[in-house]
Amino acid sequence: MLTPRIEIDLEKIAHNAKVLKDLYGSRGIDVIGVTKVVCGNPDVAKALVKSGISILADSRIENIRKMRNAGVQAQFLLLRTPCLSQAKAVVKYADISLNTELSVIERLSEYAIDYDSPHKIILMVELGDLREGLMPSDLDNTIKHVLDLEYIELIGIGTNLACFGGVKPDDEKMGYLSATANDVENKYGLTLEFVSGGNSANYNWFMSTKDVGRINNLRLGESIYLGCETLYRQPIPGLYTDAMTLVSEVIESKMKPSVPYGEVCQDAFGNIPEFKDQGQIRRAILGVGLQDVLVSGLTPRLDIEIIGASSDHIIVDAKNIDVNVGNEVEFDLNYGALLSAMTSLYVNKVSSDQLNAQEYCEMVEQKYRKHMQDLPTISIKEDHSPLISLNESGFNLIFEPSIIKDYKYMVREAVFDKIGRISKRLENEDKTLIIRSAWRSFEHQRLLWEERVDSLKKEYPKKQIEEIEELVSYFIAPPSKSMHSTGGAVDALIYDLKNDCVMRFGTNDGLKMNLNDKCYPYHPYITPEAKNNRKLLIGLFEEEDFAVDIKEYWHFDYGNVSWAIETGKEHAIYGRVAHTSNGTGLPGGFLY
Ligand SMILES: *Cc1c(COP(=O)(O)O)cnc(C)c1O
Repeated sequence: MLTPRIEIDLEKIAHNAKVLKDLYGSRGIDVIGVTKVVCGNPDVAKALVKSGISILADSRIENIRKMRNAGVQAQFLLLRTPCLSQAKAVVKYADISLNTELSVIERLSEYAIDYDSPHKIILMVELGDLREGLMPSDLDNTIKHVLDLEYIELIGIGTNLACFGGVKPDDEKMGYLSATANDVENKYGLTLEFVSGGNSANYNWFMSTKDVGRINNLRLGESIYLGCETLYRQPIPGLYTDAMTLVSEVIESKMKPSVPYGEVCQDAFGNIPEFKDQGQIRRAILGVGLQDVLVSGLTPRLDIEIIGASSDHIIVDAKNIDVNVGNEVEFDLNYGALLSAMTSLYVNKVSSDQLNAQEYCEMVEQKYRKHMQDLPTISIKEDHSPLISLNESGFNLIFEPSIIKDYKYMVREAVFDKIGRISKRLENEDKTLIIRSAWRSFEHQRLLWEERVDSLKKEYPKKQIEEIEELVSYFIAPPSKSMHSTGGAVDALIYDLKNDCVMRFGTNDGLKMNLNDKCYPYHPYITPEAKNNRKLLIGLFEEEDFAVDIKEYWHFDYGNVSWAIETGKEHAIYGRVAHTSNGTGLPGGFLY
């Protein structure tokens, strides 16, 4: 897999979000999920929504637009005081924004009128951290003005601490905000739906306070992703602190001195470096650097030590750990490192459902290799049953056109009966079984093989023939190995009569098939619809004692050696049939 990458464990993030939502919710405080540190990553946003969070907040309108376009079902709040120049986009993409400047709110009002869509605002109050916020003495005047603006709805007040000035949210600060909320409501006869007390830094206040007062909302980022509070960076009980992992790769590993030799001047960043002499050490270089991540915010999960970094390299002292070129090395990230890695173009972002897909594919390929090794060990007690043509059966079937002229779609007698029953069952559901392929002669298989080789040669003119054949063998068996030569293999799909189309199985467009690893029957990264359709198809064949192929959801075996392995039979009953001697389908030469 590509490195460097950041692995995002969506289940752990969803768990953290749920635990925090329940914890704060137990005292009437609702949680807004902050997505800015993950750059509005839609997979993460969806995980937050799934754990019950209904408002997502980001500091950038680009991220909000990205989440909306990805179909994330939530309300969106813009965290950073809007730029005057972006007022139009703010009204268009954000439902709510945090504000401190009257001129900006006036502009928002103008666009909200234009769009005929009211915009909600929360006014931020300065309580000492000295980033955004109206000075409390200016609040009155601003509110008076805001209440006069059309299409602007004042839904709350809020504050932000512990970000710039590192000022702690405590009972005094929160009490002040609560009192301010009461004053505003009394004075203007309105109800403030939101009294938003802060961010992940409010955890210690929440755990220690006797009374949360009017505070009914927090905007949480870091504690969801990294599982800690942010005043002392202590883990929060019950949360995962390893939902995010940076993975890098060893590109050099050698015994070298611990101190540079030669006359030392400035390094790449204008510093004069100093090193402690520890004699010879194992120095490993990782293919990741400052252009990828804030290296000072990384902590190795192994007992190794970061000695330094340049734009594209991290140099570590591997100590007693045996690191080799190609090994992957994992790191925990702090907030700054996470922010930089998520923002860097060079770091791949991989979320856990994609990871599961990779694990699944590796498992399938391993199983397939074992299967291929086992094939020659299975004995065949040929039952000499005849091949019968499906297209003269009178069963309700659709036949996919074949490259062979007058192709007869022949199968063994028992398979013939089974297909008849499957076709009947589908008929009752307004569906028709599609037969893509059945018995194939060596000649037929050779044509398929060559057709695929030719098309791949055109696609990859620079590849060697061996490489091409390896690619082809991924999905098409060489003529001498195909289970289709036994008359026990059938390729099938299903046609939906109600919607008048071939059902969707995740890799097909009608009858056209894309050959890739999503053809593996239980690939986790296909749509729920495709999963259901595969379940139907595979279920029908399995009830008739077929085995679905390891790699192809449309290929089913009965009676042959593949079937014997997959269903645990002692021996197979169908060997290969090289050719049919006559049109009646009596088997010709059997090969054992
Ligand atoms: C970033 C941000 C938050 C979230 O802070 P965390 O420490 O990640 O919980 C909340 N509110 C505002 C205004 C922010 O900018």
